[in-house]
Amino acid sequence: MTRLLIVGPPGAGKGTQSTRITETYQIPAIATGDIFRANIKNQTDLGKQVKAIIDAGDFVPDSLTNDLVASRLQEADARGGFLFDGYPRTLDQLRFLDEVLAADGAALDAVIQLVVDPDEVVSRLLKRAHQEGRTDDTEETIRHRQSLYQRETAPLIAVYGERGLVLEIDALGQVDDVSSRIAESLASRGIVTPDTATR
Ligand code: ADP
Repeated sequence: MTRLLIVGPPGAGKGTQSTRITETYQIPAIATGDIFRANIKNQTDLGKQVKAIIDAGDFVPDSLTNDLVASRLQEADARGGFLFDGYPRTLDQLRFLDEVLAADGAALDAVIQLVVDPDEVVSRLLKRAHQEGRTDDTEETIRHRQSLYQRETAPLIAVYGERGLVLEIDALGQVDDVSSRIAESLASRGIVTPDTATR
């Protein structure tokens, strides 16, 4: 059972690395941004509530986000572990997640922190906006999301750091190299792939 969180500023390559981690460790990703975007696309009530907020690059209110996560954690596939991506993003969300996990006698096993130079990632994100047509990827909203990350989310790393959970990963360079760094770092914590564990 592996319970992970991946954090890093917008454009650090979290999505790409998340996908790989979910495949390697056979756990589902719980990516709140993806869940919100799916709701917007399907024009659900939640989608309608959050569209303007997300397009502006602001945070969806904690109450909505926490409810969403609590119900996602009840789904069968999340009972065997998970990788959070993009949640928690505020201290309130962190505290909420602590409580939800503690109710099951659980806690996060590690926090993977992707470290990148902010200017470097603006150009990456503008490229992605072009490819994926994400309406929240303009230079202005990207800068806004980066400053929100610094102000709101970076303090979470300090909290998890005090718990000794943070694995700092240099996220510049080839995707494969970053994946290897993550795997090595997790292995140093005794977190290994299901294949290796049964061998
Ligand atoms: P990025 O990492 O590029 O910012 P995400 O897909 O993680 O992209 O999030 C996109 C948007 O979804 C955020 O800018 C925010 O509006 C909303 N969002 C996602 N996760 C959260 C969260 N945990 N709390 C509040 N808002 C969130």
